[in-house]
Amino acid sequence: MRIVLVGPPGAGKGTQAAYLAKNLAIPHISTGDLFRANISQGTELGRRAKTIMDAGQLVPDEVTIDMAKDRMEQPDAAGGFLLDGFPRNVPQAEALDEFLKSEGQQLDAVLDLEVPEDEVVKRIAGRRICRKDSAHVFHVTYSPPKTADVCDACGGELYQRGDDSEETVRTRLDVYHEQTEPIIDHYRAQGLVVTISALGEVADVTERAMAALKQSDES
Ligand code: AMP
Repeated sequence: MRIVLVGPPGAGKGTQAAYLAKNLAIPHISTGDLFRANISQGTELGRRAKTIMDAGQLVPDEVTIDMAKDRMEQPDAAGGFLLDGFPRNVPQAEALDEFLKSEGQQLDAVLDLEVPEDEVVKRIAGRRICRKDSAHVFHVTYSPPKTADVCDACGGELYQRGDDSEETVRTRLDVYHEQTEPIIDHYRAQGLVVTISALGEVADVTERAMAALKQSDES
């Protein structure tokens, strides 16, 4: 299956993507994670991306699209993939359509995770992420680790993302509404959008998502 995951920052895209990708046996491709890997490796791309990311803005399309295409062309993605954080605006969605067409492929579904805005800010402000595996996500109040700043799953150090401050979250939400939300209409016109609520326990949301994807696959 080829799936795009869309939703505001804090909807739990990274967490859900990790579970869904595992259940569906396809790679989880997160452009945010690819940028963060470049930053920690100190690459030129990472240096370019960091300032933009810290400000909550989008990295320029040409850089992002090339990076996403390179990743989708890796052998492990030949049979499908779950895109998390890409596309993030209409030009990127059009570039993805073009790319898939040239490969003789198409998307199966666009899974839209819905969550109220005040919940998003609460979720992000307390979010702590494992340095070793970004799918290991905690929250200082909602799902605290057993030991402060240590990942329960692998012992990695937990940190707060530089772009998770309340001020940057507001910018990221504005960017989401202005630039990313329009891709939902773009894909709705292709009959690909399935919307689910991202509220509740992580496992319940995964179950909801799997049921919605199954239903869209059958229709
Ligand atoms: P994420 O981990 O998906 O929340 O992404 C973190 C940040 O990386 C975003 O706020 C952007 O600055 C940058 N980023 C990730 N994906 C994209 C994309 N598809 N286009 C432009 N910038 C992106």
